[in-house]
Amino acid sequence: MNSLRITVWGENVHEHKSAKVNEIYPRGIHAAIAEGLRTLLPSASVSTATLQEPEHGLPAERLRDTDVLTWWGHLAHDQVGDDVVRRVQARVLEGMGLIVLHSGHYSKIFRRLMGTTCSLTWRDAGERERLWVCNPGHPIARGINRFFELPMEEMYGEPFAVPAPEEEVFISWFEGGEVFRSGCCWRRGNGSIFYFRPGHETFPTYHDDNVRRVIANAAEWARPRGAWVDPSRDAAAPAEKASRR
Ligand code: ZN
Repeated sequence: MNSLRITVWGENVHEHKSAKVNEIYPRGIHAAIAEGLRTLLPSASVSTATLQEPEHGLPAERLRDTDVLTWWGHLAHDQVGDDVVRRVQARVLEGMGLIVLHSGHYSKIFRRLMGTTCSLTWRDAGERERLWVCNPGHPIARGINRFFELPMEEMYGEPFAVPAPEEEVFISWFEGGEVFRSGCCWRRGNGSIFYFRPGHETFPTYHDDNVRRVIANAAEWARPRGAWVDPSRDAAAPAEKASRR
């Protein structure tokens, strides 16, 4: 198999506004995610792109050379250009994998691909999160025990306004009592999409070994499986002799 080409996209705004976030992620949240991927997938080619770059670092050529894109955003969803969003959507339909992280549930690209509001309930109180594996045979859960915990996280709770996931890999429980479908898979066109919940910017979640393992597993799972070929606009040639009788 060819080496997996992963682009880690980061909004890169909190890191410059908050001393606390900057202390946890001095080179940016995207850099920590990329570091985890490089460590766990040494044969992969991992690069980063941010909102502030021309075309948000995602011009057509870059997307064409991307097998899997990861997406973290929160404060600046509205600043993401619609042309870029359309381009990312088109690449997903062709077969590019997409991993949407944490507050990326409200990103333009995720809402467009889901077709729903993607709303949820939340509370930022630094609660313990326990992520249960609900699909132990799934490749995204490889190397994870029955559950793992994050000592401090933002709570996301149901109802999560997404289409019924085609596969669910994790369900989270929070100290305050809520539960949430925290690892969900969908297919759109030829592309695989995974939403993974943890990753609030004021906690060191992307330094956590289990979180890194899940994101790396998801990148391998979301690898394109063949290229989508759009049917021609011309009438299809018959596979067998066909007549208009
Ligand atoms: Zn958050």
